[in-house]
Amino acid sequence: MGLRYDIAILGAGESGTGAAVLARKKGFNVFVSDKGPILQQYKNVLTNHDIRWEEGKHTEQLILSASEVIKSPGIPDTVEMVKNIRAQGIPVIAEIEFAARYTNATKICITGSNGKTTTSMLTYSILKNAGYNVGLAGNVGKSFAWQVAENDFDYYVLEISSFQLDGMFDFRAEIAVLLNITPDHLDRYNNSFEQYVKSKFRILQNQKQEDAFVYFSDDKTIADYLGKIETAARIFPYTSYTDSSCGGYMKNESTLVINIKQDKLEMETRDLSLTGRQNIYNSMASGIAARLVDIRKEVIKQSLSEFENIEHRLEHVAVVRGIEFINDSKATNVNSTWYALECIKKPVVWIVGGIDKGNDYEPLMELVKEKVKAIVCLGKDNSRIISAFEFIVPDLVETENAADAVKAAYYLGDPGDVVLLSPACASFDLFENFEDRGRQFKQKVFDL
Ligand code: ADP
Repeated sequence: MGLRYDIAILGAGESGTGAAVLARKKGFNVFVSDKGPILQQYKNVLTNHDIRWEEGKHTEQLILSASEVIKSPGIPDTVEMVKNIRAQGIPVIAEIEFAARYTNATKICITGSNGKTTTSMLTYSILKNAGYNVGLAGNVGKSFAWQVAENDFDYYVLEISSFQLDGMFDFRAEIAVLLNITPDHLDRYNNSFEQYVKSKFRILQNQKQEDAFVYFSDDKTIADYLGKIETAARIFPYTSYTDSSCGGYMKNESTLVINIKQDKLEMETRDLSLTGRQNIYNSMASGIAARLVDIRKEVIKQSLSEFENIEHRLEHVAVVRGIEFINDSKATNVNSTWYALECIKKPVVWIVGGIDKGNDYEPLMELVKEKVKAIVCLGKDNSRIISAFEFIVPDLVETENAADAVKAAYYLGDPGDVVLLSPACASFDLFENFEDRGRQFKQKVFDL
């Protein structure tokens, strides 16, 4: 009989390496396999922990010898290796599922199509300011497994994507937050919105009576689906309407209320450090989660008013010749761009484009008609954007790099306008990733 492993890990990025470190610490015999190249920093960690790894291939025999496989969320179910593992009846789980077995911390789990990183960081900052012993993990920063291996936190704020949820089975969220569900990543869900919705709702599986489910009740997809299922947890909806039966609501146009534990927290929206309607909702979600873990109202208010904006999310870059430049490179789907356009009150020169994941631009039409004076396409294939908007915004140019896009937008803009990079598309046609797109954009603005 050849060498057998307890655990095989597919993908040696942040989550895979973290899982390997934790598994090793727990005494498992671990094998890590990545079809692509592994970053040197991760190779060093694996080697230092005496973990066997391979790159550029999957050695099937070794992987199939394992009794459990931890798969990076980036690897789709359709790849041959994953199919073969499943065909052998070997369980395939996410790193988050694995790590949760080894911590008793209270987990605040944040999912949704948009706003996960922002809300996770907001929530984390509140807990941190309150002096809690808390870690931030999931899609942001150091992986959950890694932190479970090396730290001893009482609380975790976890940003959880649908891909991770697909590999979660026994995981229990003490507090689950569902921000919204709009079409995204449908290529990974057989183009089925319903499958994607189901995947998001896995955040509720295993919740008990004492747990909490916080969700945005204005979101019709969420409300409809919730009507069809049973949940054991206590529920805390939040809304943009005035509805004091909710955990969070608006008292009037300008005051948000967090309505947990009888003692209401009220806050003027102009005191929130993050602008835009979406961030009122994100702040409500964070505020509710924070109240649920007994944080004082004053700490929450102060945290929400002092939070520093996150790079690439409606980030103010500079004002040049009276034109304001905003970097919203992280807007990789239509819904996030909708919120960007919605909150800008000035004429917009809109930089849009990249890899279109099957976008339906219809929801943007009204806002584009009302606010966008010119469009700068930034993508290799802009045909879908052109056909959607050419008759609404006749001033439309195509560019293929950040320098040309910024220059074109600068010439099209007048003092008092906003140049908004909010692409509604993925970045991989012209850039490494959305961070690279945002940074190049900012650099070219600074070069003007
Ligand atoms: P995620 O981690 O879910 O991708 P981010 O916080 O990184 O979310 O934000 C992604 C994009 O979505 C940004 O353009 C941001 O301005 C926008 N956004 C943030 N919160 C929301 C929300 N609640 N609804 C819609 N869009 C949002």
